[in-house]
Amino acid sequence: MHSSLARDREDLDDILAQAFRHAQAYLHGLDQRPAIAGLAEGDVGDTTALPESGPGAAAALDEFHREFEHHLSASPGSRYFGFVTGGATPASLAADWLVGAYDQNAQLNNDTCAPHIEAQAIDMLRQLLDWPAHWNGTCVTGATMANFTGLAIARQWCGRELGHDIAAEGLHGLPPPTIFAGSAHSSTLKALAMLGLGRNALHALPLLPQREALDVSALESALEALNGAPAIVCASAGTVNTVDYDDLAAIARLKQRHRFWLHVDAAFGGIAAASNQHRHLLEGIEAADSVTVDAHKWLNVPYDCAVLFTAHLPLQLQVFQNHSPYLPPPRAVVNNYLHLGPENSRRWRALPLWMTLRAYGRDGHAEIVERNVDAARYFGEVIATEPRLRLAAPVRLNVVCFGLADNDDAKLAALKRRLDAEGTAYFSTSRLGDQAILRAAICNWRTTRADIDRSFAALRDCLDAELQ
Ligand SMILES: *Cc1c(COP(=O)(O)O)cnc(C)c1O
Repeated sequence: MHSSLARDREDLDDILAQAFRHAQAYLHGLDQRPAIAGLAEGDVGDTTALPESGPGAAAALDEFHREFEHHLSASPGSRYFGFVTGGATPASLAADWLVGAYDQNAQLNNDTCAPHIEAQAIDMLRQLLDWPAHWNGTCVTGATMANFTGLAIARQWCGRELGHDIAAEGLHGLPPPTIFAGSAHSSTLKALAMLGLGRNALHALPLLPQREALDVSALESALEALNGAPAIVCASAGTVNTVDYDDLAAIARLKQRHRFWLHVDAAFGGIAAASNQHRHLLEGIEAADSVTVDAHKWLNVPYDCAVLFTAHLPLQLQVFQNHSPYLPPPRAVVNNYLHLGPENSRRWRALPLWMTLRAYGRDGHAEIVERNVDAARYFGEVIATEPRLRLAAPVRLNVVCFGLADNDDAKLAALKRRLDAEGTAYFSTSRLGDQAILRAAICNWRTTRADIDRSFAALRDCLDAELQ
């Protein structure tokens, strides 16, 4: 055995204790750390030359800490509002460490409880969101892969409707399925590209006035024009900019007269259903054929974890089965994940999900959702008191979109640079209509109204400095 490996085997406890100290210092320092690292070109040290003689774990850990720790963002902290970035609850973080220690391959092979725990975690998530008991789920790395998986099953369904097994025969010679959406997330287009359906296959339908939700009457006309050809409808349950929801119940009613697969992208918006106050936003979702929901966003499980739910296990198995003499044969069993998703070897990413749901239960996760929504509404209220700012959209749930009252894009960009350098809070940028905006997505279990006060004070200071 290599001398460093032999020594590290002896020193394993010390190595893990060293990693623990680094994690502890980082987590305790989150509140003081700038929200983002603010890297410029060349800031990140170059450690690409492979060591000829490996010095062992302690030296590598030290090197990483010395060279790169100060280049980390505070994204698990309470004032990182960029994109849709969840934190990690204590229970899910602890479980994630154990996933590495246990290093199980989460496949159904009678040699580990991992797939059984995954099935339990998914079922508890389904209960949390009050979704139908006959749905099964599969853990994947994120909503992008969940959309890919759901649309792969949708593609198989479209083929079946035309008397064709796409998983076996491919798409050759088939009329391309028509795919409709209102405000589809970019990952839907990426999934269509990966699936050979093509980004251009997506027909963007008209939206309701001043909304990101699709106009269901336009969908109805579009479906009628298909004359019975199978279609896929990609509905949004929580758009990234304004957290708008398509009217799932109205879309579901169209299923009585039209043939389509309903895929719902509920990446973060689905978690609203954890709260009795907000569950109505997802009314009608039980008619969906496949549903995407992220665990690493509003459920606050560390990266990476999402779930694809579907009521069509046999079609899912047709697409993802993986025959090999050295593997157990594909069977349509709910936790036979090797045959139900895009991966072969799989991280046990369900354990953090299981742990957070066991630790905080229905009321704990509902409380995070409700506190985050309250913080977003509060942030919207304080922004409305500041004459130099304007709310760019009503605060529908947990995202606040705002801009400068005078709509000056260049001034907004300068304000954004100043905010990033100041470091109290991180907002990401977006566009609404033809206006540049800043977005605050509040989805971290740590965030309270006090964080909104601190963030707003910093925002005002930056406005003072930038717009004197
Ligand atoms: C974040 C997001 C995605 C992509 O999710 P990843 O987990 O980053 O792959 C897809 N759809 C919506 C609505 C999202 O918010």
